[in-house]
Amino acid sequence: MTRAAVNNQQFSPYTGRFAPTPSGPLHFGSIVTALASFLQARSQQGLWLVRLDDLDTLRVKHGASDNILRTLQLLSLEWDGSVLYQSNRHAAYQDALESLFNQDLLYRCDCPRKETRGQTYPGTCRNRNVPLCHQASLRMRTGNTRIGFTDHIQGEYVRNLEQDIGDFIVQRADDIYGYALTVVIDDDFQGVTEIIRGADLLASTPEQLWVHQHLGLTAPVYGHVPVATDAHGKKLSKHDAALNALLLADPAELLIQALQFLGQSTDPGLAGADTATVIQQAIKNWDLSRVPKVPTIPKMTTV
Ligand code: GLU
Repeated sequence: MTRAAVNNQQFSPYTGRFAPTPSGPLHFGSIVTALASFLQARSQQGLWLVRLDDLDTLRVKHGASDNILRTLQLLSLEWDGSVLYQSNRHAAYQDALESLFNQDLLYRCDCPRKETRGQTYPGTCRNRNVPLCHQASLRMRTGNTRIGFTDHIQGEYVRNLEQDIGDFIVQRADDIYGYALTVVIDDDFQGVTEIIRGADLLASTPEQLWVHQHLGLTAPVYGHVPVATDAHGKKLSKHDAALNALLLADPAELLIQALQFLGQSTDPGLAGADTATVIQQAIKNWDLSRVPKVPTIPKMTTV
């Protein structure tokens, strides 16, 4: 889907998007993210696109993409144009890898994933020339470079790529393209100007800016909304029975709870209103500066 595909309508240069991984139905936190990115786009008469990040065959669940799209429809979160599926975008990722490879920015790495995940990669394979016959991932070289940006919600964020993150994976040993690569390619392809997403992805943003830089692409701006957690501070990741019941029985109430989570004012007169009415009012009243400037918030209400 490109701008050209939807440019028969009037829109401002703003383009936002929601890009869930279809690893299961949406949970409260992902509904919050979808709503925030939708409202940020619509309050500026912008486009709001949906992309399904369905590359990771180990995580993607059968039927989850359709389920997510049905949930967005139930909540009156209507997207523009057609949905983009990352599984149809292999050629674009391969071209990007070739460009990085030609700049001598990639190398093969056969360090076991479970030994390196979640840690700064120390560059073990940087100069090893791992032979082609070994199963290996592809890492992108970082440098002793500080990369920073001003997040529209969380404020200044700066990291030294080499010291804080290390060379990162752009293609796994099982050939799945890395998130830092695909997100950059697709956001650029879709003309996304601002990314509103969960604060669990804040720390991955400097890698993405590094990829943008080396592919000569213009980076979007970012706003990371707080992640909903359980009472113990653990990210909500399950779409539970209570949420499902509320989604089916009273989706407008679910929207109201998500708006309250996002610090927005909600009119008590909305009780009993339908989703379209709640959304219309939410677009009118949307104020990004009211979104709490914290990375996580425990979800206290009933769902
Ligand atoms: N697909 C990613 C996820 O569900 C989010 C991608 C993004 O918003 O940048 O965690």
